[in-house]
Amino acid sequence: MLHYPLTNLLPVDANGYYGEFGGAYVPEQLKANIDELDKAFRRYVDDSAFNAEFDRLLHDYVGRPTPLYRADKLSEIYGTNIFLKREDLNHTGAHKINNAIGLGLLAKRMGKRRIIAETGAGQHGVAAATVAALLGLECSVYMGAEDVKRQRPNVLRMEMLGATVVPVTSGNSTLNNAVDAALAAWCAAPDETFYLIGSAVGPHPYPEMVARFQSVISFEIKKQLKEMTGRENPDYVIACIGGGSNAAGAFYHFINEPDVKLIAVEAAGKGVETDETAASITQGTATVLHGSRTMVLTDDGGNVREAYSISAGLDYPGIGPLQAHLASIGRTKVVAVDDDAALKGALMLSRTEGIIPALESSHALGALDAVKFGPDDVVVINLSGRGDKDMDTYMKGCII
Ligand SMILES: *Cc1c(COP(=O)(O)O)cnc(C)c1O
Repeated sequence: MLHYPLTNLLPVDANGYYGEFGGAYVPEQLKANIDELDKAFRRYVDDSAFNAEFDRLLHDYVGRPTPLYRADKLSEIYGTNIFLKREDLNHTGAHKINNAIGLGLLAKRMGKRRIIAETGAGQHGVAAATVAALLGLECSVYMGAEDVKRQRPNVLRMEMLGATVVPVTSGNSTLNNAVDAALAAWCAAPDETFYLIGSAVGPHPYPEMVARFQSVISFEIKKQLKEMTGRENPDYVIACIGGGSNAAGAFYHFINEPDVKLIAVEAAGKGVETDETAASITQGTATVLHGSRTMVLTDDGGNVREAYSISAGLDYPGIGPLQAHLASIGRTKVVAVDDDAALKGALMLSRTEGIIPALESSHALGALDAVKFGPDDVVVINLSGRGDKDMDTYMKGCII
């Protein structure tokens, strides 16, 4: 069984700033709870019993380590060496469970009896509901009414697991509004409730906590690459970004290794030049959203604009502060991949490797066309989740 060192390797200061991004912009009534959370996290993240339980659950329950798979046919097509980090093979089908286990264990240690969560595609809702069932916690999941419709199988899974799904009808009824509703529910009962956030977003210390729990991904990649290729650093790591948690995990142990090129793929939707996009780094401005200062899609009046992507897990108008910072200093290269390119990536992976990826992960595959790789390059793509939940969309996208 692997022991995951949850060491802090992030460019974050004591106030939760990543360069000019981050911080903790919360209403007065939540300040004490944020403090309590920060203290508890710092105490338990270095606690050996907490770590042992995290390691054990990731191994026995989640099924880690996930394989690093050399995709031979894909490698041939692109004339390089492509490895897929198989987060799709985790219990519940995506990387979200890594963080849900970490935060769930923390909630339990803090004596909370109820967790709340937001969800877009439903993957985080399922992960949160799963962990709630496992640890004996009550669970309410806030989900945009539009997403409740387009992600029906995941709604049923959450209900089967005993969670209450709360449809949110404000705004365009998607992820952005679900986060607002979850934050409001947390404000209403902060003492008994633990907000189990699903991405590396929100007020400090959430982005840091989520990134550190997801760091298991790159910790494994290093070990596995060393065994498979003799070197632990790839030339490229590619990951899609909604809020930036799977990217944070896949980049984590390489952030301070300048020879590793990091490619962050955001969802262009119908194109970055249109209003129907989720490309918050390419198109956004720096402002405060959901508790932190970050890159956000805004209109001319500076109001938050609704995001659009074919993928419910990526149509969020913001981005975590770590990803905003890494992009602003040029540590990551940001590529925007549109709906059609993502659909094409999904079909290609299905037909060449026999793996149906999540629509979110398909954006990372879509970025393969945007970079010129050399024949000796080692390229790792974080395959953040599986595509079962997206079959309706794939059928409607007429790609079958
Ligand atoms: C939620 C989700 C994402 C986007 O969230 P991040 O926090 O940016 O990782 C990507 N892929 C899958 C499969 C997801 O479920």
